[in-house]
Amino acid sequence: MSLFQQPASCRSCGATLRHTFVNLGMSPLANSYVKAEHLNKIEPFFPLHVYVCAECFLVQLESIAKPEDIFSDYAYFSSYSDSWLDHARAYTDCVTERFGLNNKSWVVEIASNDGYLLQFFVAKGIPVLGIEPAANVAQAAVQKGIFTVVRFFGEDTARDLLSHGKQADLIIGNNVLAHVPDINGFVRGLKLLLHKTGVITLEFPHLMRLMQENQFDTIYHEHLSYLSLLAIRKLFHRHGLKVFDVDELTTHGGSLRIYAGHEDDSLKVIGERVEEVLSREEKAGLTNLEYYLAFGEQVKETKRKFLEFLTAAKSEKKSVVGYGAPAKGNTLLNYCGISTDLIDYTVDRSPYKQGHFLPGTHIPIYSPERIRQTMPDYLLILPWNLKDEIMDQMKYIKQWNGCFVVPIPEVRMY
Ligand SMILES: [Zn+2]
Repeated sequence: MSLFQQPASCRSCGATLRHTFVNLGMSPLANSYVKAEHLNKIEPFFPLHVYVCAECFLVQLESIAKPEDIFSDYAYFSSYSDSWLDHARAYTDCVTERFGLNNKSWVVEIASNDGYLLQFFVAKGIPVLGIEPAANVAQAAVQKGIFTVVRFFGEDTARDLLSHGKQADLIIGNNVLAHVPDINGFVRGLKLLLHKTGVITLEFPHLMRLMQENQFDTIYHEHLSYLSLLAIRKLFHRHGLKVFDVDELTTHGGSLRIYAGHEDDSLKVIGERVEEVLSREEKAGLTNLEYYLAFGEQVKETKRKFLEFLTAAKSEKKSVVGYGAPAKGNTLLNYCGISTDLIDYTVDRSPYKQGHFLPGTHIPIYSPERIRQTMPDYLLILPWNLKDEIMDQMKYIKQWNGCFVVPIPEVRMY
C-alpha cells in the first residue's frame, strides 16, 4: 500500500487491513506465459503484498487484476497431472457412497476445468453441471460429454440456475474459493443453490501448512485468499451455512476439504474432526496475530539460502534446469530475481506451455525430452507438491549423476 492510498478492507468481514503478512515485491501475473514474439514488449508487474485481517484472520491479497483478464484463456488443464486424476476418482467414489448420490441427484462443480472430476460422476450415471469461466477449457469438457456453462460463479449465476427450478445435492468447489474476489457473493450463491439437505465440499490449500512449511511460493495474484478452518467457519456462519466435517489432504502441499450444509439441516451433525483441526490451528498460532507477523522474516531467509545454492552451483560450473512451469515457480523465481543467469531453462509436460517463456524471468519452457539431451547436474523441481511423482518419472537423470533439488520449505537435494 502506498502512503497515498487508503488501507483496504477485509474481503470477508470488512475490517480495515493494517497488518502485513508478507511482501513479495512486484511480480507479473503468474500464469501469463510469454510468447517469443512478445519478449520485447512491456510486461505488467503488480504488487504481491499480502495482509492478515486482525479480526477474522483471513490472509489476503488485494485484488488487482480483473478475473476476466486471468481466467478467460487459462493455460492450466487439470487432466495433465496423474496424481490429481487419482485424487478426483477417489473423491467421487467416497462422496457418492457417503451421501447416497444416484441418477436422480444433481452434482454441480464450480470451476470444473476440463471435466477432469465430473467425468467420474458421469461414468456412474449421475447428472452433472460444470461451471467454468475459461471458454477454451470448458470446450474441452464439452467434448468429453460434460454439460458445462461458461461463467463465473456468484449470487447471479446461482439465481439463474435456480430459475430452472433445481437445487444441487452436491456442490463442489476445488481450489476456487481462494481465487474469488467477492467471497461473500460466492458463499451467498452456494447458500442459494444448495438443496435443503445438500452438501457443499470445498478444497483449498490450508494456511496452517503454508505457514508451517514455508510455502510462500503458493502466493500469487490469482490466489486472493489464504484460508484456515477458523476463517472459513466465520465466513460460512455469516451466511447460514455450517461446516460439519473436514478432511486433511496431501494435495497442493496440504489442503483441507470442508463439508458444509445449511445451518438448520439437523441431519448434518458437526463431527469431531472439525474441533480437532480448529484446536490444532489454535495451537499452531493461527489465533495469534504475532504468529502471522513473523512469517515475512522466514521468507526472506529462504530467499537468501536459495540464492546461495544457485550461485554456488554456478561457481562450480554446474548446470541447473527447472522441472515444471507452475504458478508457484513464477512467484519463487520473480521474488528471488532469478533468470537464465542461474537457471538455463525449464520443461513442462503441457503442450500449452511449451515454446513459451516464464513471466517476468523469461526462462524458456521446453518439453521434458530436453533434459535427456542436455543432461543437467541439477533438476530443480518447481511443483514441489508433485515431487515424488516427478522424481519417479525423471529418475533417469541418475544415469549421469544428476541430482533433484526442491526449493521449499528450504533447498534440499535428493
Ligand atoms: Zn476479516
